[in-house]
Amino acid sequence: MIKLHDKYFKPFITAKQIDEALQRLANEIAEDVGDEIPVFVGILNGSFMVVSDFAKMYPKPCEVTFIKLASYEGVKSSEDIQRLIGLTQDLTGRTVIILEDIIDTGNTLHEVHRIFKNEKVKSLKIATLFYKPEAYKKDFKLHYVGIEIPNKFIVGYGLDYNGLGRNLSEVYQIKETQYMTNLVLFGPPGAGKGTQAEFLKTKYNLVHISTGDVFRYNIKNETALGMLAKSYMDKGALVPDQVTIDMLNAEVEKNTDAQGFIFDGFPRTNAQAEALDKLMDSKDSQINAMIALEVDDEVLVKRLLGRGKTSGRPDDADESIIRNRIKEYYDKTAILKDYYSAQDKYFGVDGVGSIDEITKRLSSVIDKL
Ligand code: AMP
Repeated sequence: MIKLHDKYFKPFITAKQIDEALQRLANEIAEDVGDEIPVFVGILNGSFMVVSDFAKMYPKPCEVTFIKLASYEGVKSSEDIQRLIGLTQDLTGRTVIILEDIIDTGNTLHEVHRIFKNEKVKSLKIATLFYKPEAYKKDFKLHYVGIEIPNKFIVGYGLDYNGLGRNLSEVYQIKETQYMTNLVLFGPPGAGKGTQAEFLKTKYNLVHISTGDVFRYNIKNETALGMLAKSYMDKGALVPDQVTIDMLNAEVEKNTDAQGFIFDGFPRTNAQAEALDKLMDSKDSQINAMIALEVDDEVLVKRLLGRGKTSGRPDDADESIIRNRIKEYYDKTAILKDYYSAQDKYFGVDGVGSIDEITKRLSSVIDKL
């Protein structure tokens, strides 16, 4: 992901895909023009990369020239297109092929046809690397099209966003959801995830989702999900993955405007971690960090038994259930440290100390993300 001015963009079309499309166009055009020497006309500024790479791939003699107009202002194709300038060459009787980086509304093409109306060219053909069929509003024929793309703003490979991005060798697409901070708060039961999440959500303006809390809410309201979850929770076992994943997805979907999430108690298995990545991806986002509160087992048991005296949670009241929850954590959940470490997203934090001290330790990790 990259940031240009105030917007974020995600990788969309690779340099290899661009190369392949240009090679196809070059071969197709070379075959069509036969023995003629065509004049390729690039439209500046956007097409400088396309024309340069295309010309190198073109297998036969050709001429190359440029005309100029300014067509984009910000992210919308401007209705008020400036006129084309710079056509100084006599093109009488020539085969002219316009080389465009992108055709969206077709306004530029309109200008092209206007400027060539009085030139006595033999033929005028249009070739474009990218084409947005959903945005195209004109009837001019497009003779050669490289890659059709959806009607979303792109940058890179000659295309800019307010001046930036032209020099990128790959093409990026604007992110629908702008930047979110998504944290997985990790650690064994009793590590203090819920307590810390309460502070962090206010400090960083994030939505806190605790899967344990959602299950408990469902149990209290005697929903079908609650009844199902209860049978597992009472033993200190994990609720099946698919049930938990579906529930988590639904919770995230409820918060369309969130600037990010704190996931507390999720993911607890590899399958859940993969499902979370997929969900974040569908939001054009990602998990930024897994922050783990590290606390010794015996401290956890003591803390949970203490909490059980006031929390009313049946799974906090019995030492053997508590030990089973901690065992579930080491058997099934602790492996997620590897999952996030492999992506350089794992941060361990000492979870013993005052609430305030631990919040400060967590914040210092988040502030550096
Ligand atoms: P917690 O409040 O996070 O300690 O969770 C309490 C109980 O809810 C756990 O012992 C599990 O039975 C269930 N639970 C919470 N989150 C998950 C999850 N991500 N996957 C499976 N079970 C979960």
